[in-house]
This record gives sequence, C-alpha cells and structure tokens, in this order.
Amino acid sequence: MSETLVKFYRGCHGMGIVISVTYGSDRIIFDFGAPFTPLAQVYDGVVRSRKANRVKDAVLLGRIPEVPYVFARENLQDLDLEPYEDSPYNTAIFICHLHLDHMSEIDKVHPDVPVYIHEDGLRLQLALEEAGEEKHYRDYSPFRYHETVSVGQIRLTPFFSDHPCPGSSSFLIETPDSTILYSGDIRFHGSASEKAFKEIEELSSHHIDLLIVDSTTTSASEFAPDEKLLSLYRQPSRDLLPGCVSVPGIYEEIAGQLKDFLGLGVFNPYPRDVQMLQEMIELGERLGRTTVYEPLFAYILLKCRGVASAVIYPDNDEQPVYYQLLKDKCPSVSADQIQRHPEKYLLQSSYRNILSLIDFDGIEGKYYHLLGEPLVEGIKEYGIMKNMIAKLNWSFRSFINLYSFSHAYPNHLAWLVEKINAKTVVAVHSKCPENLNPVNSDQFFPEEGVTYCLREGKLIRE
Ligand SMILES: [Zn+2]
Repeated sequence: MSETLVKFYRGCHGMGIVISVTYGSDRIIFDFGAPFTPLAQVYDGVVRSRKANRVKDAVLLGRIPEVPYVFARENLQDLDLEPYEDSPYNTAIFICHLHLDHMSEIDKVHPDVPVYIHEDGLRLQLALEEAGEEKHYRDYSPFRYHETVSVGQIRLTPFFSDHPCPGSSSFLIETPDSTILYSGDIRFHGSASEKAFKEIEELSSHHIDLLIVDSTTTSASEFAPDEKLLSLYRQPSRDLLPGCVSVPGIYEEIAGQLKDFLGLGVFNPYPRDVQMLQEMIELGERLGRTTVYEPLFAYILLKCRGVASAVIYPDNDEQPVYYQLLKDKCPSVSADQIQRHPEKYLLQSSYRNILSLIDFDGIEGKYYHLLGEPLVEGIKEYGIMKNMIAKLNWSFRSFINLYSFSHAYPNHLAWLVEKINAKTVVAVHSKCPENLNPVNSDQFFPEEGVTYCLREGKLIRE
C-alpha cells in the first residue's frame, strides 16, 4: 500500500528550499532555489557559468541538492545521480514565488518536468525575460489561488501569502492519507496583511498533519539585536509590536518627511516587489509628486499591472526593444524637468544607474533604500551606494534588514502555528529552527536527504 513520503533535500538550516512529497508514483517538489549567500557565492557576476556542465557544477558547489530523476542524463555528465529519462515518477515542481532563493536553479531541470508558478509571478517572469533581466530557459505552467492542481493522486491548492513578490503562495497539499501545509515565504505586515490573516483563518478549517513553515525571524540576528527581545516577541498575537516595521508604516514615515520638503525624494526598491512599485505611485499622488521610474521598473509595472508610470531614460546608448512600448504608452520626464522642480517628483533610482543622481547635485534630497539592490549591508556595493549619497549631501534612510522585513515577525509566526494547529511542525528558511515557538504542535527536526513516512501526522524515518 502507498504512503505519503516526505524528503527535505534542503531548507532545514536556512534558505534554498527543496522538499519533495511522494505518494506511490506521484511526486511533487516545492521550490528549487539556491541559498542567498552574497559574500560566498562563486557566481559573483565576474565568474562565468558553464553550459554543458552547469548541473554538475551546481551540485558540486552546493547550489542544488542531489534530487533524483529531474536532470537530463546528458547534463549529469559523470555524476552518480538517476537521470530524468529513467524516472519512475510522475513529477511536477511548484514555486511559491519568484525570488531567487526559491527558483534560481530551475533552469537546470529537464524541460519535460512541468514547473508551476502563480499567473502573476509568470507575468513578472515574462516581463523580466522581455527586458533581458532573465534568460528564457523554459516554459512554466500557471496556477491561481484556490484552484487545485492535481499531480496524479496528490492535490495541491495555492493560497495567498503576502510576501513582497507577485503571486506569492502557500501550498495546501493533500494526498490520499495526509494533509500538509507549506507556508512559502510569508509575512503579515505588508499592505495586504488583513487578506494574509484571512487566508490562514480559512486554512485553519483543514486538519493539517504537517506544517512546514517559513521561520526566518526565529534567528535573532535577522530580526532583533538581542535574544531577550526575541523571546518576548514569541507569544502568539496579531499585533504589530514596538520596533516592528510595516510596509504602511514605511509609507507614513516617507510621507511625513516629504510633506513640506522642497527637495527631491529618491527611493530604491526591489524590482520584483511590484506591489510596492504601484504603491509608490499612490504615495507620490498623496504628496503632489509624480513618481518617476527607470525603464525596467516602468516596464514591469506596465506588463504586470497595466500601470503607465512616468519614465526617465538613463544617459547611455542602450535602446532595448522593450523601450518602444514604454515610449508609446508612458509619459517621459527629463532630468532637466526634475532639476527645475524637485519638489514635484519622487524618483526611483537603481544602483546600476546611480550615476544618474549626479544630475541632481546641488539639489536637496532624501534617499530611501526600500530593500532594493544592493540588498544587504556589508557588501561592497552597499558602501559605494552610501558614499554616493553622502557626496550629494542627501539624507540616507534604510529600513530594517531584508530578511525580517520580508518574513513574518515571531509573534505573527506563533499566531500562524497556533491557528493551523498541525500535529507536527517543521521550521524551514531559518538558521535557528530551534527558536521557533511550536505553540500547540510537536516540532520535528528532519535530517536533510532522509526519506520520512508521514503517518498520522508523525514523520517516521523510512
Ligand atoms: Zn525565501
């Protein structure tokens, strides 16, 4: 008789989640990314990746775990791993959202393995491919919230999660004998927090055997300066506790500072946070400022949301094909116009175009690093960015570190765990899974690469 088998290939000690759920000959794998390690990663933009050896290199570098039956025989070279061509499984891969730690290695998967992402995520992927930011490696199958996808006897239903990437999802996975909830990356302090809380309320009506939950903020270094504060914040509640930043809170701070300011407001967002890109236009409107985007950001907004924002073109020789659509649909703004009336603009600025800011030397400015690139303090580029802003004599404001900003605060996390009331909980995406407050569930610490049977809510080594 078949049983539900769960294997945690990676994600029990940090980022880069790869987990499989198998029932008989049906298998789903969720997420397929490498950990985000900006200081240790060999592909730093200088070192070039290889082609025929890319799977082998990624395995040897620890970018992907050794998952059997997903890589083409020809790409495995001399690696001792079962090729897709010999697969006894009906396999599908599901991606919870388009951040690189969840999907960076998907290009190495055999093209015949279906890969599912949310339709809004797919729209973003296509926009990035058209703009030359992503290569077109393969086709994807779209899913929608609350619409079940069947992979043989395994049923997967995506639910909304308010992570800063369009189409972010939690997965409810039902096999003939068990129910699993994978939270995906999740938070409850974005603009859609009410919707995010509601989704968990809805999910709580299911009897969940196993909850696999994003526990990023259980690591104090990624949330609060000291452990004491962290333990205080571990009690389940929906409150936004002191010291916890929210997306609406960030907008309020910026609005307060720019309300009577006669200089230029500049912000540096992450291009995949489409919701924030759109909300910064609304913030501009509230302040009587036009929000102006660089072409890539404007193109993403146009393709993902149908929003035609004002565009400023950088001073270089690039004329990619996608500029044409922007020129047809979006009003353009020149540096000259902004110089004359800086108080009328809210300007997006990416690191790669940071020299464009020299056009506004001598004008007062406030710079907001809204979790754009460079992503984290400590890398060389972050220092260069700050030096540049200092040279312009502008104020520089950044908000809380990337990880905690994009992931549920510990009290929200404990609320989620309590609400779902699973028999067993496994913390993933965290360097300190033992810091999770399992509340009413039994916490289990799986060994990576080991197959477990899920029997009546217990993970038992096969
Ligand atoms: Zn992640």
